[in-house]
Amino acid sequence: MKYGVESAGPEAHRYRLVSRAARSARSIVRVGQRAAFGGAALAVCAGPCSVESREQLETTAAAVAKAGANVLRGGAFKPRTSPYAFAGLGEEGLRYLRDAADRYGLAVVTEVLDPRDVDLVVRYADMLQIGTRNMQNFPLLREVGGAPKPVLLKRGIAATIEEWLMAAEHIVTGGNAQVVLCERGIRGFDPHTRNVLDLAAVPLVQNLTHLPVIVDPSHGTGVRALVAPMTLAAVAAGADGVIVEVHPHPASAYSDGAQSLTPAEFAEAMEGLALVAAAVGRPLPERAAAAA
Ligand code: PEP
Ligand code: MN
Repeated sequence: MKYGVESAGPEAHRYRLVSRAARSARSIVRVGQRAAFGGAALAVCAGPCSVESREQLETTAAAVAKAGANVLRGGAFKPRTSPYAFAGLGEEGLRYLRDAADRYGLAVVTEVLDPRDVDLVVRYADMLQIGTRNMQNFPLLREVGGAPKPVLLKRGIAATIEEWLMAAEHIVTGGNAQVVLCERGIRGFDPHTRNVLDLAAVPLVQNLTHLPVIVDPSHGTGVRALVAPMTLAAVAAGADGVIVEVHPHPASAYSDGAQSLTPAEFAEAMEGLALVAAAVGRPLPERAAAAA
């Protein structure tokens, strides 16, 4: 049974470049020197929601590398619901990310919010994140479509699968085929969770597109206690990787503390993930020498 293909019918041809029909082999998106999304091994991205200080990044990068992550995440440009909330350190934050990642052999993924900042973020990052709020920001999609770095395209907060894949198509038609999709939850009605993590989207989308698909269990749930179980479930469902928020002191995080794991909790989640990864035949990322 091919999930979704039958029901999509001729519509599948509307996203012809990212469609499975265009390319039967799964795409592998290489990020930095060592990370790959969609290959045999999983990609594990981890780090704080926001870049807050050099010390925070150094501590977090050391811990997540030791636990087995291969990509450092962290926002230097933050989309915030309130105009009074911390909006990120900008270029200073990008520098902290780059330095900490290089020290521990990690690649860097970070969000770009504004088409005018794409060139700046390209200079520091290995992968450009398009956040949920910008999934249909077409000028931004066009700009990253012309960028020389891979793109992590998060699913819009109320986006259909069709809209998500069409957004990916916008990037690829711009000339950048290095796109990874990220399921990060869609808006539901129950305030017990921040979003409803749509894990069925993983096998569904893998049958509609050749692009790699990862899962964000942090924004997908908004609840620390749910992050490790959903990390394991994502890989059990066939995800090509995960992106997890980790903060040395979640209680004092500038953003998303309630859904951030401590380094110890992340290390424990990685031990569980190793078992699930072995069960589904997907090795964890190769460890960097600096992380050993
Ligand atoms: C984030 O990764 O911190 C973020 C803002 O994600 P999203 O766009 O999925 O809300
Ligand atoms: Mn966040």
